[in-house]
Formats: sequence, structure tokens, C-alpha cells
Amino acid sequence: MKTLLNDRRPLVYCPGCDHANVVQALNRALMQLKLSGNQVVIVTDIGCSGLFDTFYNTHALHGLHGRPLTYATGLKLARPELTVIAVMGDGGMGIGGAHVIASCRRNLDINLLVLNNFNYGMTGGQCSVSTPQQAITSSGFLNQLEQPLDFCKLAETAGASWVGRFLPEEKELAAGISEAVCHHGFSVLEVENVCTGRYARGNPRALREKKEHEHNPLFSGVVSRNERLEYGDGYRRLAAEQPAEEPFTEIAVEQTAAIDDRCEIMLLGAAGQRMNTAGEILCFAAMAAGLQVTRKSDYPITVLRGHSVCEVVCSPQPIRYTGIARPDVILALAPEGVERKRSVFESVKSDCLIIKAADVEIPPSQCRIIEIDFQQQCGITFINRGVAALAVLSCVHPVLNANMFRSGLFYRLKSRQLEMALVTAGRISSWFKENPQ
Ligand code: SF4
Repeated sequence: MKTLLNDRRPLVYCPGCDHANVVQALNRALMQLKLSGNQVVIVTDIGCSGLFDTFYNTHALHGLHGRPLTYATGLKLARPELTVIAVMGDGGMGIGGAHVIASCRRNLDINLLVLNNFNYGMTGGQCSVSTPQQAITSSGFLNQLEQPLDFCKLAETAGASWVGRFLPEEKELAAGISEAVCHHGFSVLEVENVCTGRYARGNPRALREKKEHEHNPLFSGVVSRNERLEYGDGYRRLAAEQPAEEPFTEIAVEQTAAIDDRCEIMLLGAAGQRMNTAGEILCFAAMAAGLQVTRKSDYPITVLRGHSVCEVVCSPQPIRYTGIARPDVILALAPEGVERKRSVFESVKSDCLIIKAADVEIPPSQCRIIEIDFQQQCGITFINRGVAALAVLSCVHPVLNANMFRSGLFYRLKSRQLEMALVTAGRISSWFKENPQ
């Protein structure tokens, strides 16, 4: 094959636009490397540089502004054998700069081609993140107030392992692109282009400056201090070393439920009390009896302090609504959780069962209350109150019986945690035999 250029797609750029030279140089580079179109993906940005993928007979992906590296990353990880070339303008470099920095840090084998023409050409010549401060643009004085970004220095600093800056008509550009493509790691190749349609009108010096290489010294090559393992190689190696994922737990229906209608349980505790673990045990127990279940959690972002509330709905029928306004059972195990749901106590049903820890105050209530001093009466610590309260529940309420509870423990817990939970359950059971409620 003599060319990868798409003969049905003329170069539609403005007369004198340097982007056209880069299109030709990229084609020469791909031909030198003897790459066929189905071995290459060109991922483009928005803007004049975003037309790039249409000029070639290769795979192509045209996405959101500033985001080509996100698509390119997924592509390269999924299909490491492909040559993935992302093309961005200076506009996209500003809009999606965080992705550029992440790619430099990561060192996945993608080639980023930056077509830097120092302005947003397609949308009217507004200033971009690389516009020099003295330039005239359609954004008025705005570029005078901001320091322009040097993409190559940024890439070097952020960890790119190959960085180069070229002019579009340089003979070396095609060779530079070839070198960047052959480099096994993330490469950033910036081409300083002149936008004749917009930028050069207000900045005629741009053409001369470009020729004289005045403002940015050109360079290219491997950044030795950033040379390291390619991300995809490292990812695949480490992923292969990970233990196999545990298979999905099938819940066998071996128990019998004693409820024939929806039952809502609210666990009110504090951070560190394993309220969510207790909620999950209850869910597994209910599923083991063939019930439908839902669970919702509420805790502050400060996970080691504050309330921890878990709401579980169990029902023989499909659960259409997962909220709880008037629970059938409340497990009040810490003041933080009670405070969080204080309003629930005002509207609670008269037949609601409240199981409360002795040191937890609750609002006055006409409900049936079982109070237990977990520490004094059963030697159960603060963090084990969730499991202990479920053990109490299994002795006094039809939503959970001893067999269901045991199934829930075995489905959710393992080894030492399971042993401790069984000890806790045994202590509660003994206490109940001595103190029937
Ligand atoms: S507007 Fe500028 S960048 Fe766009 S095609 Fe015209 S000269 Fe090229």
C-alpha cells in the first residue's frame, strides 16, 4: 500500500494551514512503519484538529472536546496490539489537561499528537492555554493576563517518557512521529502550527517567529528520567497475579419464613459498629428463607465518626418501594443513630418492636421495648452490638428465626469473624433462656 490517506476526503483546511502538512507527515510515518490501516486507530478531539481521523483509511474515533486520551486509554488497554494515536489541539489541551497529565503519569503506549496553533481556530480565534501574552486574539486582552502553557515541559514534568516539539514542514517531522510511535510508552509530540485562517491575521509575526524558532526551542526524544515500565505491560502482569475472584454466592432457599407481609427493620447505630454488616446478615438470612430484600445505608462521609443507619425491607412479595417511614422493628444500638432518626419514633406503629441497648436513650414510646445491657449481661462489646441485636431479634420476632440467622451468618461471614459472631449469638441465646421476654 502506497498511502493510508483517504482519497475520497480532500484536505479541507484553510489555504496555508499547517495542519495539512501534519496530515501528510503522519501518513509518511505510518507508511515508513509499514502499518496497515487496520493496525492503527486515530482518536480525535474537537476543533480543526478533530478532522484528522477523516483523512485516513484507519480505524477512527471522534469524541468529546478534550477527552481523546480517555477513549485512547480504553482502546489501548483492550487492544494492546493496535497503534493508538490521539490528536488534540491546544484548545483540547486546556479543556482536557487533567487527562493529559494522567496519561503522562501512566505511561500507557499511546502517541499524543498536539497540533498547537495558539488559538481556537474553528470557533473564531479565541485565546487558548498556549496563546502568547503579546498575541492579538478575538478574546480581547484575556491572554495578556495568563501565562501560556509549554506543553512539552508540562509533559516532561508529569512523566511522559518521550517528548518532542516540531515544526510542521520539517523533514524530520515524519521521522519524529515514527520514533514516537515506536517508543514503548506514552509519547507527546507537539507540532507548532500557524493558523492562517485566524491567528496569523492578527499576528503576522507568527509566521516569522515560527521559522526562527524564537519562542520555543525544538527538541525530541526519550526523557531518560521518565523511562519505566509501560503501563499496559505492568497492568497485565499484576492483574494476572491477583487471586481469582470469588464466585458469585448462590443463595439456597433452605429456611422457612414466618412472615406473610412486608416487614421493615431499622438498625440505628454508630460508626464502627458494623451496622451494614449486620444489615447484610439480615438480608442473607431473609433470602435463605426465600424472601425479597432491600438494604439502604446512611452514614456521613467521615466514616469513623457519627451515625450509621441501615434500613432493611424483607417481604414475601416484590418490593416496589425501598423507603422506611414507619418501621416494624427498630434496633437502637447507639445514640448517634437514634439522633439521626429521632423523627421516626414520633410516627412509629404501636406494634413496632424496639430492641435497645441499655445505655441508649430513645424518645418516649408506647411500643414493646426489649432493653439489654450487652456488655454487663452478655459480655458483648460495643462493636458487636449489631450481630447481638440480630440474635435478640431471632428470639422474639417472626421476621428472623434462629435457623435463618445462622444461614445469614454463614453466608456473610468467614473464619474469625464468623467464630466471634457465633459466640455472640450463643451468649444472647443463653441469656434469653434465663431471661425470657
Ligand atoms: S481555522 Fe486555522 S486551524 Fe482551522 S483550518 Fe483554518 S487555518 Fe487551519
